[in-house]
Amino acid sequence: MVLFDNRRYVPIENVATFYRMDLPASGGERFRLQATGRSIEGVNGGRELYINGVKYVLCFPIVSKDGRTLISAMDVVKIIEPILRPQKIKNPGTVRTVILDAGHGGIDSGATGPFGKEKDAALDVVLRAKKLLEESGFQVRCTRDSDVLIPLEKRAEFANRHSNALFVSVHFNKSNTGVASGLETYCLAPRGVPSMDEENLSYSDYIQHPGHKQDPANVALATTVHAALVRNLRLPDRGVKRARFVVIKNITIPGILVEGGFMSGTPDAQLIASAAYRQRIAECIRDGVNRYKDAIANQSNQKPSAVVAATDPTSVPTLEKVAPVVGSKVDIESSVAQAREAIESPAKGN
Ligand SMILES: [Zn+2]
Repeated sequence: MVLFDNRRYVPIENVATFYRMDLPASGGERFRLQATGRSIEGVNGGRELYINGVKYVLCFPIVSKDGRTLISAMDVVKIIEPILRPQKIKNPGTVRTVILDAGHGGIDSGATGPFGKEKDAALDVVLRAKKLLEESGFQVRCTRDSDVLIPLEKRAEFANRHSNALFVSVHFNKSNTGVASGLETYCLAPRGVPSMDEENLSYSDYIQHPGHKQDPANVALATTVHAALVRNLRLPDRGVKRARFVVIKNITIPGILVEGGFMSGTPDAQLIASAAYRQRIAECIRDGVNRYKDAIANQSNQKPSAVVAATDPTSVPTLEKVAPVVGSKVDIESSVAQAREAIESPAKGN
């Protein structure tokens, strides 16, 4: 352990040794730890780390001291460890119920773009995911299944009434510049870690929240869902990030918040307006939840790094197979109606 800027850091050689990974001679500022089926990549001075090809925004930047590359102990404990050794997550329980949370609703439209409102797109994805997860055998509960406004605290309270459950909140992003594009998955910033893109700590970063007891499970769930999203959707990977949104800090079950693209940006806005894209997000949520469930089950006979699905750069982006239907606000709303109808009368199919 090395002290740097009054913070504890771990040399990457020690990380490599501990996780039985090789550290080839690094070329300049870049480093890569590797073993069969897993890898960790980063850059000196950077605040991003790629684990098995999935991007994480670190709690603290990677630093260099006396010629050694150092990763904060917080990032080793709170990101690398639960991803590489999900079998060490304590008492994760089983997953029988999935709480789906469609962001915004009612008078709160969320982000708006040329093709519709965030609240409608989020609800559509949630209703699609509900159907898929139920087909996978999960019990699914939604914080809202219509266009109503539910206070954030009530959403968390609703989630906390369930055990053997996890929580997925679905949102779409907004950007002030209009040019942003890509996918983000948020989990609760651990205690003592700056929120969002902040560099410096403030008093509020030290408050203990109910969600902190699930820190390892939160990042494992974020990993499986985010890996599915970046692998299957044709949008940039903006990373697994940390924040203290009310819905993820107040819940006692593992939970994440997904931002499935930008309402305002291109190509995001056009994709979000297409039912095929929203269906694909729903499939990614289902796949990520299933993979998380598998990773925490049968912990004794589990291989290392079972949680993380390596993103396969050679896999064909499957959205090319579907027509890029450019929809409208009406398209999203009618899709919601169709999805609800399919759920309420499953015999008819979709
Ligand atoms: Zn939102």
